[in-house]
Amino acid sequence: MTTHSTRMLILGSGPAGLSAAIYGARAGMKPILVQGIQPGGQLMTTTDVENYPGFADVIQGPWLMEQMQKQAEHVGTTLMWDTVVAVDLTQRPFRLTGDSGDIYEGDVLVIATGAQAKWLGIDSEEPMKGKGVSACATCDGFFYRGKRVAVIGGGNTAVEEALYLTNHSDNVTLIHRRDSLRAEKILQDRLFAHPNITVVWNKEVREFVDGGGTAGLVALDLEDTQTGEHSRIDVEGGFVAIGHHPATELFRGHLELDADHYIKVETGTTRTSVPGVFACGDVMDKVYRQAVTAAGTGCMAALDAERFLAAAEFKEMAEAAE
Ligand code: NAP
Repeated sequence: MTTHSTRMLILGSGPAGLSAAIYGARAGMKPILVQGIQPGGQLMTTTDVENYPGFADVIQGPWLMEQMQKQAEHVGTTLMWDTVVAVDLTQRPFRLTGDSGDIYEGDVLVIATGAQAKWLGIDSEEPMKGKGVSACATCDGFFYRGKRVAVIGGGNTAVEEALYLTNHSDNVTLIHRRDSLRAEKILQDRLFAHPNITVVWNKEVREFVDGGGTAGLVALDLEDTQTGEHSRIDVEGGFVAIGHHPATELFRGHLELDADHYIKVETGTTRTSVPGVFACGDVMDKVYRQAVTAAGTGCMAALDAERFLAAAEFKEMAEAAE
């Protein structure tokens, strides 16, 4: 068992964690970043990325993450292949335990553990991911220009995604398992008023139908939740928008979480309910969820952390001089 100590400990290796590391390292905080279960985060399972600024040509998600990782290392971040399994945030330095048995101590802690999209869990879903099935219309909608698309879900995300998709398609269907939406009324009003969106009520997707060869998704098999009847809707894009799981299990009881289990931060900052602990990226953001916004809040977390440490160190010096 080894103890690794640093001024700035970061959990999570997606765009938020790595951006925090780049800024933290350049501020001389010698960050240690514990990568977690899926090094690189959600972009490791994405192929084409067209919306990350700075790249005129299409880039690949894993390549982008490799570049961010190298950049973080070049400026002085130590990356650890480990997953944190226990936390003690009751005093500084914060003390975390890795799956390896190693201990990680940080004067400040930046949490960037991300979130995972929820999936329907039907057999045809996994093989059709990237072949017409996606959980992010903002990321992938552009690839379905002029095609028929459907969004599955009835919350804010599903309605926003359906509205967003009308930028690319004039044939958008929202499929919901009940006969009323849980999305905010203003969003519902926009949805119902949109001439290119059709809402299909009381239906669950039973199969993503593969057209074979290079065709990808060609249709959805639907089952009526009231009658059990099956029907088919022809679409080339299917967007699952049934919510996300923020990776916050570790912090339950240690930090304030909201009703959806996202880490609560003070508005306009990355400060959590525990002084010296900061949160950035999808673990605290249920609205934007983009690589670029995650990177932006990662930068904010490093700046917030640096200011916190400077203030704490100034206080200690002043107390020692008294
Ligand atoms: P959500 O509010 O939890 O809604 C999930 C939707 O998916 C529900 O309509 C649910 O149906 C449906 N669903 C869940 N499991 C399903 C399944 N297995 N099969 C079919 N349908 C299923 O999730 P969200 O829309 O991602 O929003 C999460 C949180 O973020 C909410 O608090 C939301 O307000 C917030 N948010 C805010 C904004 C914004 O402020 N602009 C944008 C996005 C999200 P039921 O209704 O039948 O349960």
